[in-house]
Amino acid sequence: MADSGKFGGDEVAGAKEHHEESTLDELYQAVIMELSRRPHNKGNIPDAQIVTKGNNPICGDRVIVYGKVSPEGTLEHVTFEGKACSICTASSSMMTDMMRGKTLDEAGMISDHFKAMMRNEVPFEVPEELPDMEALEGVRKFAIRVKCATLAWTTLKNGILEYKAGRGESSIDESCAT
Ligand code: ZN
Repeated sequence: MADSGKFGGDEVAGAKEHHEESTLDELYQAVIMELSRRPHNKGNIPDAQIVTKGNNPICGDRVIVYGKVSPEGTLEHVTFEGKACSICTASSSMMTDMMRGKTLDEAGMISDHFKAMMRNEVPFEVPEELPDMEALEGVRKFAIRVKCATLAWTTLKNGILEYKAGRGESSIDESCAT
Protein backbone atom coordinates (compact mmCIF):
# COMPACT_ATOMS: atom_id res chain seq x y z
CA MET A 1 0.00 0.00 0.00
CA ALA A 2 2.87 2.37 0.91
CA ASP A 3 4.48 1.50 -2.43
CA SER A 4 1.42 2.27 -4.51
CA GLY A 5 0.93 5.58 -2.70
CA LYS A 6 4.48 6.63 -3.43
CA PHE A 7 4.21 5.57 -7.03
CA GLY A 8 1.01 7.58 -7.44
CA GLY A 9 2.69 10.68 -6.04
CA ASP A 10 5.56 10.45 -8.50
CA GLU A 11 3.19 10.07 -11.38
CA VAL A 12 1.35 13.30 -10.57
CA ALA A 13 4.56 15.31 -10.14
CA GLY A 14 5.93 13.96 -13.41
CA ALA A 15 2.77 14.78 -15.31
CA LYS A 16 2.70 18.35 -14.01
CA GLU A 17 6.32 18.95 -15.00
CA HIS A 18 5.66 17.54 -18.42
CA HIS A 19 2.66 19.81 -18.86
CA GLU A 20 4.69 22.94 -18.04
CA GLU A 21 7.40 21.93 -20.46
CA SER A 22 4.99 21.37 -23.31
CA THR A 23 3.37 24.79 -22.74
CA LEU A 24 6.79 26.43 -23.03
CA ASP A 25 7.60 24.35 -26.07
CA GLU A 26 4.36 25.42 -27.73
CA LEU A 27 5.30 29.05 -27.18
CA TYR A 28 8.74 28.51 -28.68
CA GLN A 29 7.31 26.48 -31.50
CA ALA A 30 4.93 29.29 -32.47
CA VAL A 31 7.85 31.72 -32.88
CA ILE A 32 9.96 29.16 -34.72
CA MET A 33 7.11 28.12 -37.02
CA GLU A 34 6.24 31.73 -37.84
CA LEU A 35 9.87 32.55 -38.73
CA SER A 36 10.32 29.34 -40.70
CA ARG A 37 7.21 30.13 -42.76
CA ARG A 38 8.18 33.76 -43.33
CA PRO A 39 11.92 34.03 -42.76
CA HIS A 40 13.59 37.42 -43.05
CA ASN A 41 16.29 38.02 -45.66
CA LYS A 42 15.66 34.85 -47.66
CA GLY A 43 17.25 34.83 -51.10
CA ASN A 44 20.60 35.54 -52.65
CA ILE A 45 22.67 38.69 -53.12
CA PRO A 46 23.98 38.77 -56.69
CA ASP A 47 27.06 40.85 -55.85
CA ALA A 48 27.82 39.30 -52.46
CA GLN A 49 31.50 38.93 -51.61
CA ILE A 50 30.67 36.18 -49.12
CA VAL A 51 28.91 33.09 -50.48
CA THR A 52 29.27 30.01 -48.29
CA LYS A 53 27.50 26.69 -48.10
CA GLY A 54 26.65 24.99 -44.85
CA ASN A 55 25.54 21.42 -44.48
CA ASN A 56 24.15 19.62 -41.45
CA PRO A 57 24.09 15.93 -42.37
CA ILE A 58 22.36 14.91 -39.11
CA CYS A 59 19.15 16.67 -40.11
CA GLY A 60 19.70 17.22 -43.83
CA ASP A 61 19.79 21.01 -43.53
CA ARG A 62 21.56 22.82 -46.35
CA VAL A 63 21.97 26.57 -46.42
CA ILE A 64 23.88 29.08 -48.49
CA VAL A 65 24.73 32.30 -46.68
CA TYR A 66 25.39 35.52 -48.62
CA GLY A 67 27.10 38.58 -47.24
CA LYS A 68 27.53 41.98 -48.83
CA VAL A 69 30.54 43.72 -47.31
CA SER A 70 30.59 47.53 -47.32
CA PRO A 71 33.76 49.50 -48.19
CA GLU A 72 34.06 50.17 -44.43
CA GLY A 73 34.23 46.44 -43.76
CA THR A 74 30.78 45.98 -42.23
CA LEU A 75 28.10 43.52 -43.25
CA GLU A 76 25.74 45.68 -45.25
CA HIS A 77 23.32 42.87 -45.92
CA VAL A 78 23.18 39.17 -45.01
CA THR A 79 20.79 36.69 -46.60
CA PHE A 80 20.38 32.94 -46.81
CA GLU A 81 18.67 30.34 -48.91
CA GLY A 82 18.43 26.58 -48.94
CA LYS A 83 16.42 23.65 -47.68
CA ALA A 84 16.29 23.33 -43.95
CA CYS A 85 14.07 22.28 -41.07
CA SER A 86 12.01 24.86 -39.19
CA ILE A 87 14.57 25.38 -36.40
CA CYS A 88 17.37 25.89 -38.93
CA THR A 89 15.29 28.25 -41.08
CA ALA A 90 14.11 30.30 -38.09
CA SER A 91 17.63 30.52 -36.70
CA SER A 92 19.03 31.49 -40.12
CA SER A 93 16.46 34.29 -40.28
CA MET A 94 17.54 35.52 -36.82
CA MET A 95 21.20 35.35 -37.84
CA THR A 96 20.64 37.56 -40.91
CA ASP A 97 18.82 40.16 -38.79
CA MET A 98 21.45 40.07 -36.06
CA MET A 99 24.51 40.39 -38.32
CA ARG A 100 23.39 43.33 -40.41
CA GLY A 101 25.62 46.36 -39.81
CA LYS A 102 28.19 44.42 -37.78
CA THR A 103 31.89 44.48 -38.62
CA LEU A 104 33.38 41.20 -39.82
CA ASP A 105 35.19 40.75 -36.50
CA GLU A 106 32.03 41.46 -34.49
CA ALA A 107 30.06 39.02 -36.64
CA GLY A 108 32.67 36.32 -36.05
CA MET A 109 32.50 36.86 -32.29
CA ILE A 110 28.69 36.88 -32.28
CA SER A 111 28.73 33.58 -34.18
CA ASP A 112 31.15 32.02 -31.68
CA HIS A 113 29.10 33.28 -28.74
CA PHE A 114 25.84 32.00 -30.19
CA LYS A 115 27.39 28.56 -30.74
CA ALA A 116 28.70 28.50 -27.15
CA MET A 117 25.22 29.49 -25.87
CA MET A 118 23.50 26.76 -27.83
CA ARG A 119 26.01 24.24 -26.50
CA ASN A 120 25.34 25.34 -22.93
CA GLU A 121 28.94 26.50 -22.51
CA VAL A 122 27.90 30.03 -21.55
CA PRO A 123 24.62 31.39 -20.11
CA PHE A 124 21.83 31.97 -22.59
CA GLU A 125 21.34 35.70 -23.16
CA VAL A 126 18.73 37.17 -25.45
CA PRO A 127 20.07 40.24 -27.27
CA GLU A 128 17.86 43.34 -26.97
CA GLU A 129 17.71 43.73 -30.74
CA LEU A 130 16.56 40.14 -31.24
CA PRO A 131 13.94 39.13 -28.64
CA ASP A 132 12.82 36.20 -30.82
CA MET A 133 16.07 34.44 -29.99
CA GLU A 134 14.47 33.39 -26.72
CA ALA A 135 12.62 30.75 -28.72
CA LEU A 136 15.90 28.93 -29.37
CA GLU A 137 16.73 28.52 -25.69
CA GLY A 138 14.53 25.43 -25.49
CA VAL A 139 16.36 23.85 -28.44
CA ARG A 140 19.40 23.33 -26.18
CA LYS A 141 17.56 20.47 -24.50
CA PHE A 142 17.72 18.52 -27.75
CA ALA A 143 21.41 17.92 -28.47
CA ILE A 144 20.62 16.59 -31.93
CA ARG A 145 18.85 19.84 -32.92
CA VAL A 146 21.57 22.21 -31.69
CA LYS A 147 23.36 21.95 -35.03
CA CYS A 148 20.14 22.95 -36.81
CA ALA A 149 20.19 26.19 -34.82
CA THR A 150 23.91 26.92 -35.21
CA LEU A 151 24.33 26.01 -38.91
CA ALA A 152 23.76 29.43 -40.49
CA TRP A 153 25.83 31.17 -37.81
CA THR A 154 28.86 28.92 -38.25
CA THR A 155 28.42 29.06 -42.03
CA LEU A 156 28.65 32.87 -41.99
CA LYS A 157 31.74 32.65 -39.76
CA ASN A 158 33.37 30.27 -42.25
CA GLY A 159 32.46 32.64 -45.05
CA ILE A 160 34.04 35.58 -43.22
CA LEU A 161 37.25 33.60 -42.70
CA GLU A 162 37.29 32.60 -46.38
CA TYR A 163 36.63 36.18 -47.41
CA LYS A 164 39.48 37.50 -45.26
CA ALA A 165 41.85 34.81 -46.57
CA GLY A 166 40.74 35.43 -50.14
CA ARG A 167 41.20 39.16 -49.84
CA GLY A 168 44.73 38.59 -48.55
CA GLU A 169 45.58 36.40 -51.54
CA SER A 170 44.12 38.77 -54.11
CA SER A 171 46.04 41.74 -52.73
CA ILE A 172 49.24 39.71 -53.17
CA ASP A 173 48.23 38.87 -56.75
CA GLU A 174 47.57 42.53 -57.46
CA SER A 175 50.96 43.65 -56.24
CA CYS A 176 52.64 40.89 -58.28
CA ALA A 177 50.84 42.02 -61.45
CA THR A 178 51.87 45.65 -61.08
ZN1 ZN B 1 17.54 20.75 -38.90
